[in-house]
Amino acid sequence: MKTNNSITRRESEVLHCISKGLSTKEITKQLYISKSTVETHRRNLLIKLDANNSAHLIFKAMTEGLLSIGNVGMKMTAMVALFVILTFGNSNAQVGMNVDCLESYSINDTLYRTNNDSISTILTVSSNAIHTNDTDSYYSAGDTIAMINGFEVVVGSSYCAEIASCTSDPCIVNGIHAAFDEFDKGSYTISTSGSNVTLTTDGLPNHTSPYWSNTTERCLAGPMGMTLCTNQNTTVNHPYFVEPRITTYDQMAPGNIDDFNGSYSLTVPQSPVVANTSSSTGLGAIGLAISGSVIYNDEEGPNIPLDGAVGSLDYNGAHTGPQSYHYHLEPEAWSKDDNQLIGVMADGFFLYGRKCFSTGGYPTDLDASNGHTSMTQHSCSAEYHYHIENTPYLGLYYILFPYDYAGSPSNIN
Ligand SMILES: [Zn+2]
Ligand SMILES: [Zn+2]
Repeated sequence: MKTNNSITRRESEVLHCISKGLSTKEITKQLYISKSTVETHRRNLLIKLDANNSAHLIFKAMTEGLLSIGNVGMKMTAMVALFVILTFGNSNAQVGMNVDCLESYSINDTLYRTNNDSISTILTVSSNAIHTNDTDSYYSAGDTIAMINGFEVVVGSSYCAEIASCTSDPCIVNGIHAAFDEFDKGSYTISTSGSNVTLTTDGLPNHTSPYWSNTTERCLAGPMGMTLCTNQNTTVNHPYFVEPRITTYDQMAPGNIDDFNGSYSLTVPQSPVVANTSSSTGLGAIGLAISGSVIYNDEEGPNIPLDGAVGSLDYNGAHTGPQSYHYHLEPEAWSKDDNQLIGVMADGFFLYGRKCFSTGGYPTDLDASNGHTSMTQHSCSAEYHYHIENTPYLGLYYILFPYDYAGSPSNIN
């Protein structure tokens, strides 16, 4: 029901302010107009551009050529990206995590709802209310505001101000980056010191594997003709033990997961930066997975490719080694062709599955370390992160990290 696309000079100025992510208060100072005048202009812009909220407004203004991407501030670009994701069908439930924050309101905030094209009702919320994105209701004190696409409510006072005043940042959990909240709490101890975060794990995975202790003895013929057997000094299978289905008993590496109950510790900056030069990964742990175990690269020894050991990898692309149960390939226990968080690499950057939250698909802008800067399900703004290599290895598998670190790695001890 768009009726009038021509906007006044003042409305255009307000539009540009909104696109920079300015709050109502900031716009009043910048344009020397009152709060209610800013709100009137904002409301008129929403109606004229047939928009439901500020992010939608900027999206529409860009579509109509009233704004170019260069005019739009970082914060609004991220919001518009989020809006596009929400509106055009990315159904990833974790989107709601970001939206919760955008839709937290305070006492006496004035809200009004849109009825598809026109604003039909203005409501005043009389107590704290937080909308949770995917249902049909809302605010307290008897007010009910219909949500149509989970994104139809407009904050009357200032959409931007609402973002700035979010008291609980969904991207920070327990004082650190939200991604760390996904690390298995049974395995990990996570602490902070100044700008660093330290993760310590026992190295044991929180999922099933044929490498957990079990009652079937297995033996492997060694290179010199000797045979190495893993004796099963147990009468019961470990609760996480599963029969091998990708590997076989006669291909499995020596040692059970339980034999490697140890300690792996990594300290990284909370805000890692891409280094001027990349650095190669080494043998041993190059990252920590959210499951509790460690991540290795694509080699099985000094310049020895993984190929010869592939038969010993379980359904998580992992096996036991001299010092650990470790992953080389996409770990099916929690990630398969998706955007799940895999873990954190030794340089502090997070490693995600083959797909990216920002687009829902396979990223096409990856650098030589298979990383790029975009939104993740754990960030409120674009940040650098890695993805699993999306090129099949041996026609079947996906190597976690055959690249060089883009940042400066710390030791995993
Ligand atoms: Zn290995
Ligand atoms: Zn990504």
